Amino acid sequence: MQSAEPFLPYRGRFAPSPTGPLHAGSLVAALASWLDARAHRGQWLVRIEDVDSQRTVPGADRLILAQLAACGLHADAPPTWQSARTPLYRAALDRLVAGAFAYPCACSRKDIENATTADVPRQRHAELRYPGTCRTGLHGKAARAWRLRTQGAHTGWSDRVAGPQEQDVEAAVGDFVLLRADDCFAYQLAVVVDDADQGISHVVRGADLLDNTARQIWLQQCLQQPIPHYLHTPLVLGANGEKLSKQNGAQAIDTSEPLHALNQAATTLGLPAQSGKVEQALAIWTAAWAYAWMRPQRQVQAT
Ligand code: GLU
Repeated sequence: MQSAEPFLPYRGRFAPSPTGPLHAGSLVAALASWLDARAHRGQWLVRIEDVDSQRTVPGADRLILAQLAACGLHADAPPTWQSARTPLYRAALDRLVAGAFAYPCACSRKDIENATTADVPRQRHAELRYPGTCRTGLHGKAARAWRLRTQGAHTGWSDRVAGPQEQDVEAAVGDFVLLRADDCFAYQLAVVVDDADQGISHVVRGADLLDNTARQIWLQQCLQQPIPHYLHTPLVLGANGEKLSKQNGAQAIDTSEPLHALNQAATTLGLPAQSGKVEQALAIWTAAWAYAWMRPQRQVQAT
């Protein structure tokens, strides 16, 4: 399969799931993606990823947008909501079905658990490795979900921070879900469709999504879409050493002191803390970011 070159000029995005307000960890991804766009003199978009209606918290989207504005992270276009884009995901699934890349699956979670000895994975957007039960047909059962075939999905790519990566998607994840049994489109399909539709050339996000990238590149190849450049930022760890997340009770950032919140995020990214005005701090960090990340042969430094 051919993959096209990434879109030019530069267009980046921040794509929060509205499951709660921004916290210190999600602000790192927001700031890094904003700085990368500004350093490239590109555009920066905000996309509210509310495709998973069960996890969406009413009002969290507005809160996140207000927090970004309070931190001086202004987007170059009005925000978009995935919940308004379902026809695009449906059309992409139809194309995958027509190309025999996708197939219906009748398995429940229990069926998959019974057919596998693997532990339940704990990574972000992880799923149980699918053993391929319905690849050859539904065996008289009713379809619940749609999955993407992953035979031959041995994907290699280079992350701008983590360097060369590879994953055998079939061995690591198996045929993954595109449309869930509850009729929600899966994150993997929605993110890939939106990144292409919005012309995203550079994805900058947290390292907890590093291992989702191979799945997304495989899907981009099946849909014959451009493959963006990827940069995965360091994670903020909580007192227990675990990644800070809404699920483990991370506090909302305090927007009455935006520079304090931004300084925390900036130091996680290896940028020096600033005093003074938010706009000045953002300008200094943009210059530092351009110096650190935009040289062609940047050496990755262990932190
Ligand atoms: N909305 C996704 C999440 O919070 C992030 C999507 C992305 O940046 O690719 O897990």
